[in-house]
Amino acid sequence: MMEGWGKTVGITPSSRVRFRCQGCGKCCLRVKEGVPVDSQDVFRMTKYLRDHGEDILCTDDFLARYAEPVLLDECGYFVYMLKTVGEENACIFLKDNRCTIHDENPRACRLYPFVVNPDPRGLHSYLLSREYPHHFTGTVVQTKSWMKKRFPKEDRLFLKTDFGGAKDIADLLRKLPEGKQTQALLHFHRLKYSDFNLEHPFLEQYYRNHDKLVAILNRMAEENK
Ligand code: SF4
Repeated sequence: MMEGWGKTVGITPSSRVRFRCQGCGKCCLRVKEGVPVDSQDVFRMTKYLRDHGEDILCTDDFLARYAEPVLLDECGYFVYMLKTVGEENACIFLKDNRCTIHDENPRACRLYPFVVNPDPRGLHSYLLSREYPHHFTGTVVQTKSWMKKRFPKEDRLFLKTDFGGAKDIADLLRKLPEGKQTQALLHFHRLKYSDFNLEHPFLEQYYRNHDKLVAILNRMAEENK
């Protein structure tokens, strides 16, 4: 174990830590703007809720009910975070200290206490979140085996494009005049989060949408020259 209990610390694939979920729900409290849901999470969670009886038809229904946009950059680039409720800013999916969407929760929750730290080259490193020391007891777990189970190839491929393409998309948004920003952000929202058929595999739709978004933004930026 490492010295002290700072919030996160870098670890390697072969690092080992003792960890057991205590079922205390603490990591799901005070999470306002703290639990990201990316396109892949939104697609999976929408499908899961629909298949388990919720009256939910599409990813836009999910976003309206459970998520809120958070601006990442003044160019307009935004991400979605799960909504919170109550004075303690509890995650909207926490009920009686239990996650009600545990079987298909977002990647950030599934990997906890480990964190994937992607870089723009499509690689990634790992971090360990240590804000709740009482979790670090019980079985020894190794980063590599934790990730093997919870961070499959489809997630790696998605993150590589999503994170790798974020800078290019932000650069293109920055090139647009104010008058075109709203239209560009509508395309951004539609192609990153909305335009998915839940009956078809996610990744090929995501790649198609990503390429379309880059092409549209390039065209809008060209028209502005
Ligand atoms: S989705 Fe589940 S595990 Fe994640 S913060 Fe919400 S209640 Fe906790």
